[in-house]
Amino acid sequence: MLYEYVGNIHIHTTYSDGSGTVEEVIKAAQKSGLDFIGITDHYTLKGLFDNKEGWYGDVLALIGVELNRDYNHYLAFDIKRDIGDYTDDPQKTIDEVNAAGGFGFIAHPFEKGSRLFLNGKTFPWLNWNVTGFTGLSVWNYSSQWKAGINTTVRGLYAYYVNRNGHAGPCCDSLKKWDELTRKRRVVAIGCSDAHAVKLDIPVLKPVIFPYEYYFRTVNTHIILREPFKKDLSYDKKLVYSALKRGNCFIGFDLYADSRGFLFYGYNKDAQVIMGEEIARSSSSVTLEVLLPRRGEIRLIRDGKVIERIRGNGLQYKAEKQGTYRIEADLIKFADATKPWIISNPIYVK
Ligand SMILES: [Zn+2]
Ligand SMILES: [Zn+2]
Repeated sequence: MLYEYVGNIHIHTTYSDGSGTVEEVIKAAQKSGLDFIGITDHYTLKGLFDNKEGWYGDVLALIGVELNRDYNHYLAFDIKRDIGDYTDDPQKTIDEVNAAGGFGFIAHPFEKGSRLFLNGKTFPWLNWNVTGFTGLSVWNYSSQWKAGINTTVRGLYAYYVNRNGHAGPCCDSLKKWDELTRKRRVVAIGCSDAHAVKLDIPVLKPVIFPYEYYFRTVNTHIILREPFKKDLSYDKKLVYSALKRGNCFIGFDLYADSRGFLFYGYNKDAQVIMGEEIARSSSSVTLEVLLPRRGEIRLIRDGKVIERIRGNGLQYKAEKQGTYRIEADLIKFADATKPWIISNPIYVK
């Protein structure tokens, strides 16, 4: 039996540069129907020390931190003490988080920025020789949105007319992830990077975006083999172990709920879900995809699309060793599609 829970990860509150208090963020999460959230304020675990972590109705609020300053931003979870600033030595950031018993994700590896925000300042990840990180965020809603609006006119158009015209994952991040997963298991997550700040456009000062809106965009859905118990420390372990193993997928849930998606594999001895490994040695491996509604499904092996079909599911006999993952798009009209789901890989050995 499998259980799916929907989470929104990478959220800023008034503990750093977000506009909402933890309580306001939780209220928005409840309204959006989320099961859990991952708050990550800049350089501080104050929310954790103030005992804000816990169950609030049906929402589990977990508190991590976003580390480093000008670049090399790293989302760290499951730590109970502050970690110093090692902006220029991200290996040290990763090592310190691991030494504190935590794990983490590169926050927005190839951020492009927009001159409407902080004069175009970007916060990319600069050092790819690092090891020991759990994964990376391949779809940061805020970073991707900003990258698409470099002028005030585009900003206004994007905000008022076509809010998600260019919404999609970061292609450079997907490429880097495919490169990394050929060597070792690396987890991809999706993030909102929600701040709910006012956009620097005179008079109108639109908020991009209210938390509730963010929480309906890029979510990370975890798949568990047992349900939540509504016990903070027990359930926290379940969420964190699913994120560490990659038993999760990214869903852009604004136009269609991606709940119900599943990517799994089996042979005569074993059954695995995304994030796990399966061997071809004893018998051939079958990979299967279930989609909650019709879409375009792409099966990708070692970074290359090997099957592309339109439908509600896919079945594939994996004869070759490789890192297999799924991308699914919503079909809008005719040939137009919109990015919708990105799964973590099944590693066929
Ligand atoms: Zn950041
Ligand atoms: Zn952030």
